[in-house]
Amino acid sequence: MKRAVFFDRDGTLIEEKDYLNDPQQIEIIPGAPEAIRLVKNLGFLAIVITNQSGVARGYVSEEKLEEINLHLLKAFEEKGAYLDDLFVCPHGPEDDCMCRKPRPGLLVRAAIKYGINLKISYMIGDRDSDVGAIASVGGKGILVLTGYGEETWRRWRWGHKPNFVAKNVLEGVYWILSQEIKEKRTMLDEELLKIMVCPICRKDLHLLKEGLVCEECKLLYPIEEGIPIMLPEEAIKLEDPQKTNNRR
Ligand SMILES: [Zn+2]
Ligand SMILES: [Zn+2]
Repeated sequence: MKRAVFFDRDGTLIEEKDYLNDPQQIEIIPGAPEAIRLVKNLGFLAIVITNQSGVARGYVSEEKLEEINLHLLKAFEEKGAYLDDLFVCPHGPEDDCMCRKPRPGLLVRAAIKYGINLKISYMIGDRDSDVGAIASVGGKGILVLTGYGEETWRRWRWGHKPNFVAKNVLEGVYWILSQEIKEKRTMLDEELLKIMVCPICRKDLHLLKEGLVCEECKLLYPIEEGIPIMLPEEAIKLEDPQKTNNRR
């Protein structure tokens, strides 16, 4: 059985633009390509699941939406981030379809197409409907605070709480990585280190016994029980090597 990380589109992978209707408006959220690369490296499928009621409302045609989505896949590919598929619900709330999140229709469709076990899969999105959709099929949901995320979290009323609240999609994927290490499905090694980046500047990191170092930000991300804590607020400020030298 395969596993997947499902990504919401607007406000999660690309900046939220109310009813985006032009491929030129696509603006990738910083860290999203790195997040997808990491997910793929961990052996998950990376699949976009998106509500596009702009079609039902007449703000964007189906042809235009198709063009936008192809453009999006290409834009990520150019950054070395290969999304496996993209599923769209074009309906509006009144259509009462089975595919509009929080209903899990698109997740189920993807599961059938690829043989995915949804119970050991994840969904990352900026709306309660993203968390609701994956929770209803037994998977784990991560709320990001980009897009509508902050507003969503402030007004959270749902029974299903997100399993994690992340500042952005890359932080969400680092949480998935921590779960993978905890469950002993992967471990922090040179191979994994190659595709990990600093969550602030997204430059390469190097491994010390105490943690992962970003030279650019002069920060050390501590490693606790084999799990790198990739949260800027938990990082340790490294002393300027110049100053250290002077003290000797
Ligand atoms: Zn639908
Ligand atoms: Zn950095």
